Amino acid sequence: MKLKSIMAISAVVLSSYQAGAQTPAAPKKESFNVMAESFSDLQVLRYQVPGFEKLTPKQKELSYYLYEATLSGRDMIYDQKSKYGILLRKTIETIYGTYKGDKKTADWKKFQDYCGRFWFSNGNHHHYGNEKFIPECSATYFKSLIMNCNAAALPIGKGETTDAFWKRVEPLFYDMKVQPKCVDLTAGIDNIVASSNNFYEGVTQKEVEDFYDKMPTTGNAPSWGLNSKVVKVNGKVTEKIWKSGGMYGPAIDKICYWLDKAITVAENAKQKQTMELLVKFLRSGDLKDFDDYSIAWVQDTDSKIDGINGFIEVYLDAIGKKGSYESYVSIKDEEATKRIAAIAKEAQWFEDNSPLMPEHKKKQVKGIIAKAITVIAESGDLAPTTAIGINLPNADWIRKEHGSKSVSLSNVIHSYNVASALKGTIDEYGLNDVVKNRIKQYGALASDLHTDMHECIGHASGQINEGVETTDKTLKNYASCLEEARADLVGLYYIMDKKLLDIKVMPSMDVAKAEYDSYIMNGLMTQLTRIKLGDNIEEAHMRNRQLNAKWVYEMGKKENVIEFVKHGGKTYVQINNYEKLRSLFGDLLREIQRIKSEGDFKAGQALVENYGVKVDAVLHKEILERYSKLGIKPYRGFIQPKLTATMTGGKVSDVKVEYPTSFFAQMMEYGKKYSFLGVNN
Ligand code: ZN
Repeated sequence: MKLKSIMAISAVVLSSYQAGAQTPAAPKKESFNVMAESFSDLQVLRYQVPGFEKLTPKQKELSYYLYEATLSGRDMIYDQKSKYGILLRKTIETIYGTYKGDKKTADWKKFQDYCGRFWFSNGNHHHYGNEKFIPECSATYFKSLIMNCNAAALPIGKGETTDAFWKRVEPLFYDMKVQPKCVDLTAGIDNIVASSNNFYEGVTQKEVEDFYDKMPTTGNAPSWGLNSKVVKVNGKVTEKIWKSGGMYGPAIDKICYWLDKAITVAENAKQKQTMELLVKFLRSGDLKDFDDYSIAWVQDTDSKIDGINGFIEVYLDAIGKKGSYESYVSIKDEEATKRIAAIAKEAQWFEDNSPLMPEHKKKQVKGIIAKAITVIAESGDLAPTTAIGINLPNADWIRKEHGSKSVSLSNVIHSYNVASALKGTIDEYGLNDVVKNRIKQYGALASDLHTDMHECIGHASGQINEGVETTDKTLKNYASCLEEARADLVGLYYIMDKKLLDIKVMPSMDVAKAEYDSYIMNGLMTQLTRIKLGDNIEEAHMRNRQLNAKWVYEMGKKENVIEFVKHGGKTYVQINNYEKLRSLFGDLLREIQRIKSEGDFKAGQALVENYGVKVDAVLHKEILERYSKLGIKPYRGFIQPKLTATMTGGKVSDVKVEYPTSFFAQMMEYGKKYSFLGVNN
């Protein structure tokens, strides 16, 4: 599971408050420029890798191999999001790289923005809203670009003319009726047929569900369907497995090539075994091998260098079975790990004292291994937009028996915070100076703590009743949203607990108030800047935040816990009773846990549909108008650092990290260097 950044909370500096310290440390001086290009609704940022220079030569070599393995899988996310993803990407890369005409015109600028958006979303569906977007330049102009670039480099079919090629790709680029939605979670329709991602082809939701229903779910069953595309061959439903020699074989082989090198410089035996098991899985495609790998990965806690590489999160699949390709490589952040570890150490206390019904509490919360990491590079579904917290593995039985590893991505969070400090959302939407100053002082720490708790005590808490199936079966398309809501609520409930003062991860209750103000403001108002007027909320994390915020707003109405107030014609949210709000968060947490534990689909559906999906059009319009005056981009993603190895006598003798400044140049470089798949996979 992953946690995404809640946008634009204006935290002034990175929280440097560490476990055990009494006052926040002085803010660091920033000379590194985090801002890079911006276009459309997107802002590209940069991040640094502090601590890389201090690694040993062997650790640097290991990170280099894992870095190459990370980028080698990039093609897969394009193909997973659409079967035409790589075809379209190669087309725009060719134009961008070889067009011979005037590049100073307004039309070219529109084409260039389209390229930026395409790369930012790993395809032509918005990375957050999932809807298709099309170029703002005309189709006639687009065709002229195709006619005036290096045709030999275009992904034209055998014997196809450039004209015919254009006829084939034009609707893919321009027709909003062709693949309108990457993931469509609309209730009451066939979500698999309506979603244009490349996880299924020629099959209905019913056929897919029948197919997987036959597989055993008792005991330690694997996550069926995680690494395959479902198709029909001769009328029979079957799977195309993503593995060496199977679908995506060439990219997977390249990943294994680099992992094999990484194995030779492993830091310790456990890490070596973990990487060996990963290679075994990628070669066999056997999901039992994946579970073996996941268990070893959870147990590898000593290594300084770590990461993941494979098919992990299921948000891109309407029925939550197919894992999107993602990868990262990281260094352990020892300092920030102290804070997160202080919380994880108390996991059992948090479980015992939670508002859950007694029968839904875990008697023994198993080893939540929590740490902060410094990211070296990310790819696939984790880039250019990234998570800020990750908790894995996802398999419930592994989490129960072996625990899970939870990481907070401290250097990317730092970049977010620095970028936010330069902008002024909080000044526009914050209620008054007390609220604004509290968020400015404590917002960064509050959000760090919330992330830590969401990941390491949130997802890890609670248990499913005996005999109840896994949530992808019981809660179906609402499972992701409800799980994220649940983890958020654990964080919200506990951030206002004296316990956090006792274990010295928080200096005062003002941190909790800052979090409540930010969360409610975001859930009821500011996150709406991310969607177009007239649209409802689709994305699981956005749905969960509105669900949580709206539910407590509605339930607290009688006692006026939260109210909308107007100042100078503008709407603000005001929290009147923080303690009561906390207990409402606890009530909702108990209910969502009950829904998960009992597999109560009807109640889960009602919660999400009634509170998480619909948008108040009048308020939405006002929010968007105010936002447009701020000149802020609602979505942010990252340029990745670049590792380069110096070779001496066929061996890696040194590894350097650089921080590229152009997103466009990096995307072109990746397209050239890490393209291992064809246009038909
Ligand atoms: Zn989460």
